[in-house]
Amino acid sequence: MKMGVLALQGDFSEHLAALRKLSVDAVEVRLPSDLINLDGIIIPGGESTVIGKLATEAELITPLQEFGKRHAIWGTCAGSIFLAKYTNKQQPLLHLIDIEIERNAFGRQIHSFQEMIDISSMADKKDLNTQFQAIFIRAPMISAVKGDVKPLAVLANGAIVAAQQGKILVTTFHPELTDDLRLHQYFLTLVNS
Ligand code: GLN
Repeated sequence: MKMGVLALQGDFSEHLAALRKLSVDAVEVRLPSDLINLDGIIIPGGESTVIGKLATEAELITPLQEFGKRHAIWGTCAGSIFLAKYTNKQQPLLHLIDIEIERNAFGRQIHSFQEMIDISSMADKKDLNTQFQAIFIRAPMISAVKGDVKPLAVLANGAIVAAQQGKILVTTFHPELTDDLRLHQYFLTLVNS
């Protein structure tokens, strides 16, 4: 298996480190040709407007959309916005998952918070601990899931923070900023499916 991490902006190094801890061959994606022979890619957190602008300049929008028709892609935080069909600001999007997502939905003063969430829908069936420490940094909110998109995790207030449609996975938090590799492992099962 060979994985890529979109390395235009944001915390791509943490995703590369997580994949390498799982002994997965992982490379940075900056150009359309970097997608050749990859089995799946991760789009990191950062600033979705910047990721969209740099992806447009690198002529990566169409190649990423084509890649996502056949392969697994996981977006964390800004990456989840970039993968969405619709957001509340005008910016380049990949439209690969049928969700509406609201940027910076948790207010200006509370830019960052953590909450334990239940990931039993994504955890290994043998794993008895289904709690996961979810870190939200100026996070977006998934405001609508449509079609066959499956919500996978919610906050105590009911807000959806993880969703999946086929091989496209989004989480509005940052598993790459913890030492817990279970969501990276879950994503690798999608890559292999
Ligand atoms: N607020 C950022 C955006 O709108 C996302 C923040 C993040 O990725 N931590 O793109």
